[in-house]
Amino acid sequence: MTATSIQMNKNLNIVPFVSVDHMMKIVGRLSMETMLEGIAAYIEEDFKRWELFDKTPRVAAHSDEGVIELMPTSDGEHYGFKYVNGHPKNMKEGLQTVTAFGVLSKVYTGYPILFSEMTILTALRTAATSVVAAKYLARKNSHCMALIGNGAQSEFQALAFKTMLGIDKLRLYDIDPAATEKFKGNMQGYGFEIVTCGSAREAAQGADIITTVTADKQNATILTDDMVGPGVHINAVGGDCPGKTELEKDLVLRSSLFVEYPPQTRIEGELQQLDADYPVNELWQVIRGELAGRKNDTEVTLFDSVGFATEDFSALRYIRDQLDRPGMSDMYENLDMIADPDDPRDLYGMVRRSGAMAKVAA
Ligand code: NAD
Repeated sequence: MTATSIQMNKNLNIVPFVSVDHMMKIVGRLSMETMLEGIAAYIEEDFKRWELFDKTPRVAAHSDEGVIELMPTSDGEHYGFKYVNGHPKNMKEGLQTVTAFGVLSKVYTGYPILFSEMTILTALRTAATSVVAAKYLARKNSHCMALIGNGAQSEFQALAFKTMLGIDKLRLYDIDPAATEKFKGNMQGYGFEIVTCGSAREAAQGADIITTVTADKQNATILTDDMVGPGVHINAVGGDCPGKTELEKDLVLRSSLFVEYPPQTRIEGELQQLDADYPVNELWQVIRGELAGRKNDTEVTLFDSVGFATEDFSALRYIRDQLDRPGMSDMYENLDMIADPDDPRDLYGMVRRSGAMAKVAA
């Protein structure tokens, strides 16, 4: 596994497409835990190559109902982007809050080398990123996590923290008890000790890590300063849009704050509540050993997660590499996506000779 291990298709005009069905088959073939670990390794590898990436805050189109965003980046060799939405009201209409798809391309030709669903992949990469951060920021002996918000992302978070950090006790809370019941059903057999709580305050009690992954299009206050004891690591996932936060400002101010890409987090994260020049720690520097993560067992650390383009790039790169492995040829289909005239300048002639056009008078 290297940053350059992606193989070029022999036929450049055919683009592998991973549908939702394919992604579920890939999970079945590799296992959820293997994929979480694999994607986390690619994310960490790409954070270590931070200066190589083109970086920009995502391009967001806001509406009263939600947001649609484009998330592009490139390491100079490959280019990737994700299309993603965030519509908290969707869930009540039987639709996903977050859906996504993405593309990975070869910079040299500009030709795509992967089209993929990214709704499932976003849940995997968000959980993998949370664990990469927690590896450096949570106390080493952490076992118990409060999980506030038990929607679509929540099981992925729980499983990632169990697989890579050994979290085996969960304290659950959601304003909708049906979400918590759904979570408990899905997580049966994974060996978690689960406590269902009646409030976020109760869930936070005694937790080593608190993950907030709620969806509400407002400045919500899921966690207040007095709910969080010394030494806790907060993995704040749900505040990821202007005017959409989860933590009380005093709690953010008390915490050591770690972010993905400051220019984007200042717009979208808990950080939007603080002054524009408030000092933050960048995760890539911690991963590279250039900056301390957690400094002692009493510090409150906060990963102000918003989701950055390099993490989607890493996830796409991981999936593309899996497709080249033996036995994976039924995990995608080939799309006829790129026009291929015999003479590159004769695009029109290709269409004319196909017989698709009405006869042209001689
Ligand atoms: P979802 O709609 O499936 O689930 C959200 C859950 O939060 C629901 O069960 C809802 O009942 C619960 N909830 C809402 N308000 C609450 C409150 N005050 N207290 C407790 N529970 C509450 O959404 P999802 O797909 O799981 O996404 C969750 C959040 O994570 C969204 O805000 C989404 O935008 C965000 N997200 C962030 C990243 C990232 O990289 N940071 C990635 C994906 C999603």
